[in-house]
Amino acid sequence: MIQRNQTREVKIGNIFIGNNHPIAVQSMCATPTTDIPATLKQLNSLEKAGADIIRIAVDNKRDAQALIKLRAESDAVLSVDLQENYRLAETLAPYVDKIRYNPGHLYHHEKKKPWKDKVQFLADIAEKHNCAMRVGVNAGSVDPAKLIDQNDPHSITPMVESALEHSDWLDTLGFTRYCVSLKDSDPKKVIRAYQEYARMRPDIPLHLGVTEAGMPPEGIEKTRIAFEQLIGKGIGDTIRVSLTLPYDDKHQEISAGRQILKDIADGRVKTVVHFDEKKLNLISCPSCSRVENESFIELAQQVKERTRYAKEHAITIAVMGCRVNGPGETDDADLGLWCGPNYVNLKKQGEKVGAFRYNEILDVLDVQLKSLIEIS
Ligand code: SF4
Repeated sequence: MIQRNQTREVKIGNIFIGNNHPIAVQSMCATPTTDIPATLKQLNSLEKAGADIIRIAVDNKRDAQALIKLRAESDAVLSVDLQENYRLAETLAPYVDKIRYNPGHLYHHEKKKPWKDKVQFLADIAEKHNCAMRVGVNAGSVDPAKLIDQNDPHSITPMVESALEHSDWLDTLGFTRYCVSLKDSDPKKVIRAYQEYARMRPDIPLHLGVTEAGMPPEGIEKTRIAFEQLIGKGIGDTIRVSLTLPYDDKHQEISAGRQILKDIADGRVKTVVHFDEKKLNLISCPSCSRVENESFIELAQQVKERTRYAKEHAITIAVMGCRVNGPGETDDADLGLWCGPNYVNLKKQGEKVGAFRYNEILDVLDVQLKSLIEIS
């Protein structure tokens, strides 16, 4: 048995989270949403693996129409992941059980409209169509207003403030059927951010995750570190293990999550947490429908193989699947790669190195990595 914080009960489709309900395990489809056969195959495979909730990204009207068709083919509990176009919630709410929005993405459309009006729009739609919501704060795309006057680039304060602000506003609107997440690729920051938020709002159910954890087994270990520390202290009502995996193996996110929960419940946890910051740290996103070239997954695996020689160096390499979130999500890395349809962009310690073809990038990365090792 895991002792849990007494959070609010939130209904999502036919499941409940919070208020001591079992911790729900989630995953997300990584296939292009418009590729209905591929997405349906992944949806079915995740459901078969025991996913309680499955998220699907929607960025435009074509994605929205595809999700409506997927809904007709599946009984899974579905969450729509709204990217920048928050107004698509109006089209999709009748077909999904949960709406996830990112406070940092509310600024891209209708720039002059206050964010509170946009959240009210979402809450009204969710209420009308019997949907839950998630306020999904992400370190790589924090609300820009929260970054002003922030001198410490590693601070968790902007993430926590953004999550608290949105929680307060939803409560003011009378919409309480929501959960919150505060994800970062660094498990230490994940632990601190969730602990800080839970200290201020112990009543709100939390969805736990280490974003861009990378590939197994390292990605599972990073996530395990954060989950053990948080769930062991009663924090967490739903989880996702975000892993970079080939499409046919995506269901491993569910088995990894269930295994971590089982180990925590059985007391198989590390009593001393060891963060090895003196070694190579490879982070990579779990991919989603925004990936424009499927070679991204193979590239992430090749980067892991090609950079093994640097494993004793304190260098962070980030590999991201798209041009939308890639540039921001690689800001803190020593070497950051983000993928387009034909080219992979590379930056070194914040400075753009260039864009290279898929068959060139590993050699360029190699040169840049060796130059970093020489000066370290
Ligand atoms: S970086 Fe891009 S492709 Fe990767 S999960 Fe985020 S949005 Fe999807």
